Amino acid sequence: MLTRIVGIATLLGLSGFFSGTETAFTSLSDAQVHYIREKWGRRGELVFRATSSPERLLTIVLIGNNIVNIGASVMASELTIRLFGSAALAATTGILTLLVLIFGEVAPKQLAIVHNEAWTVHTVRFIMLLELLLRPIVWAVSSIAAFITRLTGAASNVGVTREGILYLVKHAEYLGVLENSKSSMVKRVFRFGDVTVQAIMTHRTNVFSLEQDTSIKDALRDVSKQGYTRIPVYDRDPERIVGIAILRDILIQSTEGNGTKRLRDVMVEPIFVPETRKIEEMLTQFRKEGLNISVVLDEYGGVAGIVTLEDVIEEILGEIYDEHEVKQHDPITRLDDGSIRIMADAPIYIVNDLLDTDFPQSRSTKTLGGYLMSRVGHIPAQGDEIETAEGTFRVESLAKRRIISVRFRPLQQHNNGANR
Ligand code: ATP
Repeated sequence: MLTRIVGIATLLGLSGFFSGTETAFTSLSDAQVHYIREKWGRRGELVFRATSSPERLLTIVLIGNNIVNIGASVMASELTIRLFGSAALAATTGILTLLVLIFGEVAPKQLAIVHNEAWTVHTVRFIMLLELLLRPIVWAVSSIAAFITRLTGAASNVGVTREGILYLVKHAEYLGVLENSKSSMVKRVFRFGDVTVQAIMTHRTNVFSLEQDTSIKDALRDVSKQGYTRIPVYDRDPERIVGIAILRDILIQSTEGNGTKRLRDVMVEPIFVPETRKIEEMLTQFRKEGLNISVVLDEYGGVAGIVTLEDVIEEILGEIYDEHEVKQHDPITRLDDGSIRIMADAPIYIVNDLLDTDFPQSRSTKTLGGYLMSRVGHIPAQGDEIETAEGTFRVESLAKRRIISVRFRPLQQHNNGANR
């Protein structure tokens, strides 16, 4: 009887050994593996090899663990029947499960995670020996598992996906590991390839441009009032841009010229890009052309706005303010009454990011204002309410034919408010 008890205890010990080994090897970081490889010579090399093919390692450990667990339960059952009869089997099963859990799983795993380096270094030879002995079984088990995986059509997808990384970033932010500003930057970098110039351009109604026949003296006076360095130059109609005047050239002409020159004499060729141009390509183009402003054309060839290098860079770094730029309000302000003020020119993806909403964006509607207008089918009036699946918008301010800002009440809060 004593030998049986010792046998069961040994098998329990081995169960703990296999569980701990699994945890020790799988919890090693890349840095730890490299450190062990450098410090432990031959054994370090073996640890490196074992962690390079984790499937094989896990199969060996699992086979070992199952053999000893099943062995322990067979021996315990046999002993129980011999001593107390089969009626006591249920009690033995309960006790053995508890013992396996404590000594075969939890305790060794906790120990292994704390001392994973030492554990792997001291067990790796034994594991490699087992690998040699169990090779045919490992091969058979792996082949059957691979066959079943193929049958169920599960593709091995170990590649890192963009969604996976973005999820990690979100989670890291949630855990407080990553500051909000850094996580926003990472998200923006990943989105960089998708954003078009339309989403970031300065709308044509806000562009300061001058007629090509403007005298250098008048141009200098107007430009110094506005504070821009690059000014689109048009031929009679602001829709027909024919050049870009650079402040430096205007200045040089005003000091060195004889006063008869006009803007047309100092302007340079403009760059035109369609609204659909990706900002990633825009960045490359700016670097190539050496002119940091581009005129954005809509699909009919009309001027939609302008985009500068700063607009593109802001897409990654966030808002940059020049000395002369008025600090813009955040696109989203949470108000005391629980509603949210949103600037209508905020891109929809930013609104979705900040409010965790799911407003759709399409080729033609990239800003919140554009989305709301396409939803109602006309230009709304001040105070108009627009219902959506996510909540209600109320038009707060308008300018000419554009919405400037809206007040948003999310659905949940809206309902709470109504119930109160
Ligand atoms: P710089 O900083 O090189 O002196 P800048 O201050 O004139 O140039 P940027 O820094 O390139 O202009 O751009 C700042 C913001 O001003 C951007 O959002 C850009 O779209 C806008 N902007 C630039 N030029 C004009 C312009 N002529 N009219 C209206 N908006 C402009």
